Amino acid sequence: MAENHKKAAGRLCYLCNQRRAALKRPKTLEQICRECFYEVFEEEIHQVIVKNQLFKPGERIAIGASGGKDSTVLAYVLSELNRRHNYGLDLFLLSVDEGITGYRDDSLETVKRNEIQYGLPLKIVSYKDLYGWTMDEIVKMIGLKNNCTFCGVFRRQALDRGAALLKVDKLVTGHNADDIAETVLLNILRGDIARLSRCTSITTGEDGPIPRCKPFKYTYEKEIVMYAYFKRLDYFSTECTTLSPFFLGCNLLLFCFIIFPSCLLRDVGTWCLKFVSINWILYKLLSLSASIHRVFCCRHIFT
Ligand SMILES: [Zn+2]
Repeated sequence: MAENHKKAAGRLCYLCNQRRAALKRPKTLEQICRECFYEVFEEEIHQVIVKNQLFKPGERIAIGASGGKDSTVLAYVLSELNRRHNYGLDLFLLSVDEGITGYRDDSLETVKRNEIQYGLPLKIVSYKDLYGWTMDEIVKMIGLKNNCTFCGVFRRQALDRGAALLKVDKLVTGHNADDIAETVLLNILRGDIARLSRCTSITTGEDGPIPRCKPFKYTYEKEIVMYAYFKRLDYFSTECTTLSPFFLGCNLLLFCFIIFPSCLLRDVGTWCLKFVSINWILYKLLSLSASIHRVFCCRHIFT
């Protein structure tokens, strides 16, 4: 009778065995309730911080905040853990205003709301103030080609300048396990051994003025999205409006390379099998080309 009742009410949480399971955790495939998910998600990040000795008491820490899901969850979780475990950190939100109409102006509104919601002081550094140009003006001059490369280099410097103005000891970014996996693949493709060896480090730039840390190094992107969704966190999600046509061109080229040779393979397997395998390869290559674009141009610098 009790067993039937349990089945009717849905599967119970694998961890607490009391509440109804609300999700299947991507990292462990366990079916757990929301409360247990929040607990294990936050605890894992706390353990990463402790084991890697990311922070020392009294340090000033800037959180690179773009208004996107990763940096929003990072700001929320870090301020919670700082309170709960008495890290003794002074946390700040640091944003870069590239001057991209319809993208950064909207996402900065999200960061300004986060400043109030999480009670963290916000510093915004703009390309216009630092370099005398907005990204919109740069695109007008050079067009969309290579604009992401310029923007990425400027943004990295802008973050360093902002961190120096805030006089912080470290800068933390929302890079997650998926971002790091993409960067590893890309550095293998580029044959960049030096970058390959350092791209998985949890802290980089220790010899420079301001080291950077990635507390989400072991956190899956899917879980960050789930956490933001269940917690109803206020974040911004839109592709950049100056996204280069390079990305679309790459995909078209890949499509031609795959479809043409496949027409020559008439003797191998059935058409149906070929259709399925071509689509599978195409799907994989399209995701890889999307990753290449993001890693090269935008997200490896700032998420
Ligand atoms: Zn539970």
